[in-house]
Amino acid sequence: MEELKKAACFFCHMNCGMLVKVVDGRPVAVYGDPEHPFNQGAQCPRGASALDHLYHPNRLNYPLKRVGARGEGRWQRISWEQAITEIAAKLQELRQKYGPESVASAGGTNRTDDWARRRFFNLFGSPNVTHTAPVCWIPNFLVETAMYGWSAFDSEVMGSRCVIVWGHNPAASYLPEMRALLEARQSNGTKIIVVDPRLSETAAKADLWLPIRPGTDVALALGFLNVIINEELYDHDFVENWTVGFEELRKRVQEYTPEWAEEKTGVPADKIVLAARMYATLKPACIQWGVATDQLGRATSAGAQARATLRAICGNLDVPGGDVMPGPHPTLITDVEMELNELLSEEQRAKQLGSDRFKLNSWPGYRLLQENLVRVWGKGIPAEWFCEAHPPTLWRAIRYGQPYAVKGLIVLADNPLTSYGNSRLVYEALMELELLVVMDYWVTPTAMLADYVLPAASWLERPVLTSTYGVSDWIIASERSTAPLFERKTDYEFWRALALKLGQGEYWPWESLEEAALHRLEPLGYELTSYEDFVHQIRFDFAPREYYKYLNQGFATPSGKVELKSSILEKLGYDPLPHYVEPLPPSTNASEYPLILVAGGGFMPYFHSEHRQITRLRLLHTEPKVSINPETAKELGIREGEWVWIETARGRVKQKAWLTTQVPSGVIQAERGWWYPEKDPREPVLYGVWESNINVCVDDEPDTCDPLCGSWCTRSIPCRVYRVEG
Ligand code: SF4
Repeated sequence: MEELKKAACFFCHMNCGMLVKVVDGRPVAVYGDPEHPFNQGAQCPRGASALDHLYHPNRLNYPLKRVGARGEGRWQRISWEQAITEIAAKLQELRQKYGPESVASAGGTNRTDDWARRRFFNLFGSPNVTHTAPVCWIPNFLVETAMYGWSAFDSEVMGSRCVIVWGHNPAASYLPEMRALLEARQSNGTKIIVVDPRLSETAAKADLWLPIRPGTDVALALGFLNVIINEELYDHDFVENWTVGFEELRKRVQEYTPEWAEEKTGVPADKIVLAARMYATLKPACIQWGVATDQLGRATSAGAQARATLRAICGNLDVPGGDVMPGPHPTLITDVEMELNELLSEEQRAKQLGSDRFKLNSWPGYRLLQENLVRVWGKGIPAEWFCEAHPPTLWRAIRYGQPYAVKGLIVLADNPLTSYGNSRLVYEALMELELLVVMDYWVTPTAMLADYVLPAASWLERPVLTSTYGVSDWIIASERSTAPLFERKTDYEFWRALALKLGQGEYWPWESLEEAALHRLEPLGYELTSYEDFVHQIRFDFAPREYYKYLNQGFATPSGKVELKSSILEKLGYDPLPHYVEPLPPSTNASEYPLILVAGGGFMPYFHSEHRQITRLRLLHTEPKVSINPETAKELGIREGEWVWIETARGRVKQKAWLTTQVPSGVIQAERGWWYPEKDPREPVLYGVWESNINVCVDDEPDTCDPLCGSWCTRSIPCRVYRVEG
């Protein structure tokens, strides 16, 4: 029998629509869905490799239990029943001995149903759930939410006359977004300004490229504000009626002249003035920021504050062709409504690691934001991603037992040895655990250290219902193309099984993910007999697009207006106005580390640390590359294609030199996420995780993190580079 299933690709956040041809229950072909609004039939190489992923001989297929030393690679295949029984018993033991906060969880990006994880942990009593949230999308989102009551992340590029692409390279990482940019220029004459130290693939297509010094984004934004305010280019009507704090802002930005910004950023003052005028006068305009702007250490939130201010004073918030605040889906039972956050006691909330210090991305800030969001939108943002334990503080708690002991960690769709800064410390922490459970598609370097490794179902084997991290007003639904192969399961099934063993049964009435999804869809009012009905008949539900929502409901802030001087940030003890701060404290060993390392940046065909074992993708990009300007390389005696050491005060790894004028002299850009699935999985090699994994070189010392959200710096790290001899 032949069927066509409607799926969505979850190999990155674009969630492109896919059609899967299934013959006798077996997926045999995956096509881009021409009717899907996100990709209109297109597929990137990752999406095109879906079947290789599904049938790969190295996929995890059965639960495994460690029977040798950690990292020795000696496993025993066990049943799911045994795995769940033993894990549940150990969790009980840890809870009794050390308290529920002694068990934590680390998650990956958008592969899992995070509301189920938070539901489990709220019922278990631990606030220590985390992701790489401080360096991935969340700081910008939260600062904007503090200032205007939801992130305006839905940039309407097609109706815009000017787009600033800031710290983002969609031409290499999100192809549908790049296509929209080019179409906007072709059909509407939209001007594209790109802010990037590197002449990226996107910058190469820009009308104006602003090659800033790495990490100085906030100086550029402050320079723009100075020009726009002093030249009276802002939207007077909007500022007068819908903002508070403008006069304080005006005073504050006087010191940030274009000449001052030139000194910090290296971009000539006249170009800064030109870009500021373009953005302020070509209306409507939007700012598309990327996660590079979340990775600026101490300057992360300050940059977000300045960019949010630009959007607001130029009148580009929630207007057609500007930056639209989607708000929550009005009728779906959203992620936050599934999390049961109300069941976590105040006493346990107060124990969330890092919440005494990094307050915007943890319970103190979340509580303040949520009050306003619920008042205006009727519902708030999820605790998953937006209210989390601070990862560097978590690793230290596991490693050193301070401020208290953390003894158990459950890792889902995440590979902490490659995805968090300071990989050596992460390793030391993982080795201290009494219980490490990893659920994944593969035995990763992190999984090699686990007590239990559990096989995860991928997007062809599971239904997905998402409203993009639970913070958008659209729903995307997809169905399973096949039942999970072998003994793979969804994370929902894992959490539910564990919950039932731990006496949480009354809170988990839905036996399958489809049942849970159907429950969440009920308020939409469709006549549905099954979740698959929804996928086949409806599939997407976009709330009717509304602009200028603030005219009726105000902004979801304490004043009901855009708070250019944020009362929420002030209440949390932070500077309420945009300001300048360097990403890292001044270096004490600048002569030892004279170059600047940019550690990361998305690149095709990989997503984070994934896909290196997929042969057809690996052939496109076989080895890690570090971009070095030819002048710098010449000074250092480095030739094209040579292996070089990249060394910082934290550690060193090697990648292959790629000489290119895309990066300026004195700056290098290394690739992230590298491990070698073809190498020895056992200690001390661990699939070569210490060889080229750039997070070995990244520091995560809490004193150098962003004070609001705890972001560590990956974008302007002092380093040196030299040839690998022999
Ligand atoms: S990996 Fe490629 S095909 Fe899949 S969602 Fe992302 S851009 Fe689309």
